[in-house]
Amino acid sequence: MKTLSCDLCDAEFSAETFQEWMQLMMPHYMSVHADVMEANKKQDKRRWRKMDGRKSNKV
Ligand SMILES: [Zn+2]
Repeated sequence: MKTLSCDLCDAEFSAETFQEWMQLMMPHYMSVHADVMEANKKQDKRRWRKMDGRKSNKV
């Protein structure tokens, strides 16, 4: 059993695996941190593009 707290607030979630924990976190994020989710989406897109560029440079 793992208990991890939300990185944005003090809410704690217990689950057997990290995947289960993520499933508990998702609804919490979407209801409490919806604005952060939106911001992360935009940042992730940029981050992924950067990683893709780095990967193709290497190969
Ligand atoms: Zn939270």
